[in-house]
Amino acid sequence: MKIAEALLELQENIEKAERAKKIILDGSYLYLLRKMKKEFEDTKEKYNSKVKLITSIKNEYATISKELKDLTTKIEKDENDLYNNSGSDIKAINALQNNIKNNKNKLKALEDKGIDLLEMEEKYKLEIELEKAELINLKNNFYSYKETTAKKIEDGKIELENINEKIEMLKNSIPANYLELFEGKLKEKKQAVAKISGGSCSGCKMKVSAMTMDKIAKKEEIVTCDNCGRILVKDDAIKLKEAK
Ligand SMILES: [Zn+2]
Repeated sequence: MKIAEALLELQENIEKAERAKKIILDGSYLYLLRKMKKEFEDTKEKYNSKVKLITSIKNEYATISKELKDLTTKIEKDENDLYNNSGSDIKAINALQNNIKNNKNKLKALEDKGIDLLEMEEKYKLEIELEKAELINLKNNFYSYKETTAKKIEDGKIELENINEKIEMLKNSIPANYLELFEGKLKEKKQAVAKISGGSCSGCKMKVSAMTMDKIAKKEEIVTCDNCGRILVKDDAIKLKEAK
């Protein structure tokens, strides 16, 4: 049964190689990386637009400050004229008083607007601080995931190389006619070799004939299942081998 055991080992290594190939060729990590990149870019866009908003608020505030200064100057001038230069000219006094009143109202409105702008600036500044922290976080996650995935694929490649070496070694140790038989069966079914335990084949779950059991007992090189045709390996033999 040595050959049948080697064929089972070959089959197990072929399955292992398939699993390693799947890991190497798995494209889902690319999808995730793209998703993470998109999230980063969206957050960055939000961040940038808020930075722009803060700049425009600052510009607006500067304009208001200048207007406030101009208005204050105007009011001071009018007040000076009112107390020092208008004498008893009622018309001029009324006009000045009106101007002062109007300008004071404008001044109040501008001051309120200035306060609103400062409050808005504070709010956006807090928000961009949070977004900045999130950007750093997203960037770190992206690179750490990329690194982990690259390592997983690299490990998979090394593993596959080892498995392929093992497969070649096993193939070389098995006589060509048995190898052909094995490969032919592997094309038909997913598994060419099945274990036999308690007189049943693990491939088709059927009891094998007494004649087949007899062949196994006699340790013939290759014994196949009466029902499914798989090459049979005695489970006990494997257990003994693994225990060693
Ligand atoms: Zn079977």
